[in-house]
Amino acid sequence: MSAGFRHHHLLSIADLDQRDVNQILDAAELFIEVSRRPVRKVPTLRGKTVINMFFEASTRTRTSFELAGKRLSADVVNISTSGSSVSKGESLLDTCKTLEAMRPDLVVIRHGASGAPHFVAKQVGCSVINGGDGAHEHPTQALLDAFAIRKSLGTLSGLKVAICGDITHSRVARSNAALLNLFGSEVRFCAPRTLMPRNVEALGVKVHHDLATALDGADVIMLLRLQRERIEGPLVPSLREYARKFGVAARHLEKAAARAIVMHPGPMNRGVEIHPALADSERSVILDQVEAGVAVRMAVLYLLAKEVRAQTPTAAASDAG
Ligand code: ASP
Repeated sequence: MSAGFRHHHLLSIADLDQRDVNQILDAAELFIEVSRRPVRKVPTLRGKTVINMFFEASTRTRTSFELAGKRLSADVVNISTSGSSVSKGESLLDTCKTLEAMRPDLVVIRHGASGAPHFVAKQVGCSVINGGDGAHEHPTQALLDAFAIRKSLGTLSGLKVAICGDITHSRVARSNAALLNLFGSEVRFCAPRTLMPRNVEALGVKVHHDLATALDGADVIMLLRLQRERIEGPLVPSLREYARKFGVAARHLEKAAARAIVMHPGPMNRGVEIHPALADSERSVILDQVEAGVAVRMAVLYLLAKEVRAQTPTAAASDAG
């Protein structure tokens, strides 16, 4: 199965089709078992080098890529802006060329500029994975969200998915919309007008400015924080006012589907976009998303790594590799 993975990079959900997504999620099903074993390591990527380049803050994505690489026995190196030559004025191009000379097999890049991973991919020969670029895309987040949805609801098709919060600045919203559209689910974006991009319907989503209509019949409710690091000037009157109108609590789920699940990519701002009790409720699959993050990133590293592609996922997830 893995022999058929046709991509050299993972830059954008827009590059994938249903088959690619299923291939990644099916491989992740096997890798999630690895993370539940007493010894959470397989030799699949022994001798391979993964460089994580994080030019923006990250907890979940960076840690899970690091764990994913290590659980596959790759050599993993983390570089962040503050400890690197970037803080000494080096250009992205020079950083890439320097890293390329060290012969990594895979580079994961998070950057504040939309398109930065695409730029890097054109400059280097190794595989590049987009770990989040500006407000553009966060493909592995959408893939791990898809994994958690499929696990909870058994499908990615025919669902009503409400994505609520700061849509304008959210790469998570864009990648999720692209992925869920591939499978024929209905995606609703819900935000105040000031946090909803213009022409967003072009992404194939329905636009809502009111929680009640957005959550009506929803199978999945995905909440997003205000991306304050990307917001210039006041886009909401006050946090309290925003939380009152767009913060989701258990009572808002009354008209959602009986099986509705609540998701959040993290980091959560409890009491703003999500009521603390809802975050900790049985509806919440937020920690399942985190667990899925490691497995999905193992699957992505495995599928992109050269030479191991000929291995079946089952062999890759076995102790013998
Ligand atoms: N962790 C997600 C991202 O990197 C969501 C967020 O930061 O709000 O885009």
